[in-house]
Amino acid sequence: MDARHAILFEAVEIGPKTLPNRFYQVPHASGFGSSRPKTQAAFRAVKAEGGWGGVCVEYAPFSPDSDDAPAVAADIWDERDAGALSLAAEAIHAHGSLAGMELYHGGASCPNGGSRAVRVAPSQITSGVQWSGLAKEMDAADIARVQRDWVRAARSAVDVGFDIVYVYGAHGYLMTQFLSADANRRTDGYGGSLANRGRFWLETLAAVREAVGGECAIATRIALHGDSGVPGAEGLPGIHIDEMLTLVKMADDLVDLWDVTVGSWPEDSGTSRYYREGHEGPWAHRLREATAKPVVAVGRYTSPDVMADVIRSGAVDLIGSARQAIADPFLPRKIAEDRLDEIRECTGSNVCILREETFNHIGCVQNATAGEEYRRGWHPESFREPASPGRPVLIVGAGPAGMECAVVLGKRGFTAVHLVEAEPQIGGRLRWTRRLPTLGDWGRIIDWRAVQLARLPGVTVITGRQLTAADVLDYGADLVVIATGSVWRGDGAQPGYPDPMPGADPGLPHVLTPEQACAGKRPPGPRVVVYDTDGYYVAPGVAEMLAADGFEVTVVTTFDVLSPVSDQTLEGDMLRAHLHRAGVKVRHATSITGVGVGIVTGHDRHGDPWSADCDGVVLVTQQASQDALYRELAGDKAALAAAGIGGLYRIGDAVAPRMISEAIFDGHRLAREIDGDDPAQPAPYRRERADLR
Ligand code: ADP
Repeated sequence: MDARHAILFEAVEIGPKTLPNRFYQVPHASGFGSSRPKTQAAFRAVKAEGGWGGVCVEYAPFSPDSDDAPAVAADIWDERDAGALSLAAEAIHAHGSLAGMELYHGGASCPNGGSRAVRVAPSQITSGVQWSGLAKEMDAADIARVQRDWVRAARSAVDVGFDIVYVYGAHGYLMTQFLSADANRRTDGYGGSLANRGRFWLETLAAVREAVGGECAIATRIALHGDSGVPGAEGLPGIHIDEMLTLVKMADDLVDLWDVTVGSWPEDSGTSRYYREGHEGPWAHRLREATAKPVVAVGRYTSPDVMADVIRSGAVDLIGSARQAIADPFLPRKIAEDRLDEIRECTGSNVCILREETFNHIGCVQNATAGEEYRRGWHPESFREPASPGRPVLIVGAGPAGMECAVVLGKRGFTAVHLVEAEPQIGGRLRWTRRLPTLGDWGRIIDWRAVQLARLPGVTVITGRQLTAADVLDYGADLVVIATGSVWRGDGAQPGYPDPMPGADPGLPHVLTPEQACAGKRPPGPRVVVYDTDGYYVAPGVAEMLAADGFEVTVVTTFDVLSPVSDQTLEGDMLRAHLHRAGVKVRHATSITGVGVGIVTGHDRHGDPWSADCDGVVLVTQQASQDALYRELAGDKAALAAAGIGGLYRIGDAVAPRMISEAIFDGHRLAREIDGDDPAQPAPYRRERADLR
C-alpha cells in the first residue's frame, strides 16, 4: 500500500462498535429490499468482501404509513421482514464489516402505494405530485405511534444482527418536514422555535437510543443546505445551515455517527455533468463546527489521493460512497494492494439511479455484475476459467460491448482473443460522446477497459482495420463475436414515422447526423435546429456544442420536456437550466416531418402545421444497428463451417441500439457464457420468489 493511503485503513469507533476502516457504503436503493433477501445479501456481501468496512442496506420503511411502494425498499414492518434482512447482516459480517440499517419515514413523501394509509406530516402539506394529495397533520397519537414504530424496528434490526441503526432525517423526509419552518406550521410544542421543530427528531433519537443504544451505533442522516451555484439544483427550503448545525449540537449526545448529505437528492447525487468530485465538501465539512463525533460524507470520491486528503483535513472520518461502491465494490482492496490502475471509476452518469427510478433493480454502466451476484452468480473480480482457453476468438468492433466482451474473456483466461476495430481508437460511440460538453467523465468507460486490455496477455487489440465478411472467414477464429454497433439514421425515420423524412439526406450540407456534428460538420448558416425524438443526452450535448461554437440553436423535441430521460438520472432540471443559460431555445411537443433548404416543417401536438426557418438541422431521431456483417456471415452457414467457425454471435447495439449500460451488459454476459450450451441466449438465472407460508 502507498503510505499516503494508510490513513484510509484506520479503524474508527462509532458508539459501541468499531469499523475496521474508513470505507463506508452509505444506504442506497438496490431494488431488492427485503422481498429478495438472498439477492440483497449477495449484493451487499461483495462490497464487504471488497473491503468496505461499513455496508448498509437501503432505506427501511417500518409501518404502513412509511410505505414507499411501488418502489422496493428494505421494509422492516415485522419479524418476517427482519428475518429476511438478517441474511444481509450475516453476509456482511462474514467479511468482517459492520451492517447498517437506515430506518426511514418519508412523512408526506410516502406514496403508501401498497398500504393505502393516509400520509402523515407535521402539517397538512402537499405530498409530491399526487392530485389533491395532502397529508394528515399528525396529532399526538400519530407522533407517539411513529416513534413507537421506529423503536420497534430498531429493536428488530439489532436483534437480527445490524450494527448501525439510523434515524433517517435527510432528503426532505419526515424529520426534515418537522424541522422545516415552511413545512411545519404547527403551533404546539412541535412547531415554531427551532427547539420545537427539532423536538420530534430529538425525541425519536432518544427513544431509539434508550431501546438499543448500548448494543449498536446510532446514526442519523442530515442534509445541509448546499448552494452549489449549479442552475436547477434545488435547495432545501426552510432550514438554514446554521439552524441545522444548532440542531446537531442539540442532538450530539444521542448520535454515534453523523451521516451528512448536501442539498436535495439531485444535488447530493450530482452527476459528473454538473458536479465535480467532492463538490459537497465546503458544506459537508462545516459539520465539524458542531460535532467531534464521527462524520461520514459522500462526494462521488473516486481518487484515493483525494479520499486520503479529505480524511487528513479532519473534516470527516469516513469516506461515504454509494455510486463508487457500485462501480467498484473492490475499491478498498485495490487501494490496500496498490492496484490503483484496476479501480473502475464511477462515471457519475447515474444509470444506477435511473434504473431504480424506473423500477428496475440496480445496474451500473461500469460494473455489469452489480445486482447479478446472486441470480447469475457473477462476481466483479472472479471469473470461471474456460475448459479450452486456447480457442481463438475474434471480436469485431471495440465499442462498449466489444471492449467489455474482450476484457471478460481475457480475465477468464482465454489466450487467443483478437479485438479488431475499424477506427484508429477503441471506444465506439463513446469516442464522440466523451467529447460532448459535460460528458468527459463518461470516457472512463473506455479508459478503464483500455488499461485492462493492455495488460491482459491473452487479448490483442488491433485498430484501424475494417473487417469484411471475407476477412472474418479468413481470420482463423473458432468463435466470432460481432459488436459493430449502430449509427444514427440520417434519413429522419422516427417513432410514428417509419419512412424516411422528405428532404432528410445527410449528404446535403444542411442535414447532419449527431456523429457528423461531433466530427466537425457544421451547417452553412448560423440558425440550427436540433431535432430530438430520442430523449436523453445526445440532443442536449450536440445543442450545447453548437451553441458554444456560436450557432443559434433551437432544440425541437416531440417530448413535453427536453430530455425526459435526464429526469430519471436526477439531471433534468439542471440540464434544462444549463442549456437555457447557454442560450439554447427549446420547442416542445412538436414533430418535424420535412426538411427543406432554409426550413423545417412539421406539426404541433394538436396536429396544427408548424415550421421554422433555419440553416441546418441535426437529426437525433433514431439509430440503426450496423448488422450487415453479421447478416452476411450468418446467412452462409456452409462458409462458416468451411472456415472452422464454431460459433457466431452478436452483441450490443449491433443487436438493437440501447443504452451504453445495456451494451456493456450484453458483452459481459456473452463472455461469461460463450462456452455454455447456447451462448446466443442468456442462461436462465435464479429467480427469488416470496415463500408461500
Ligand atoms: P456498442 O455500444 O454495441 O459497442 P458502438 O456503436 O459504440 O456499439 O461501437 C461499435 C464499434 O464497431 C465502432 O467503434 C465501429 O467503428 C466498429 N466497427 C463497426 N463495423 C466494423 C467492422 N466491420 N470492422 C471493425 N470494426 C467495426
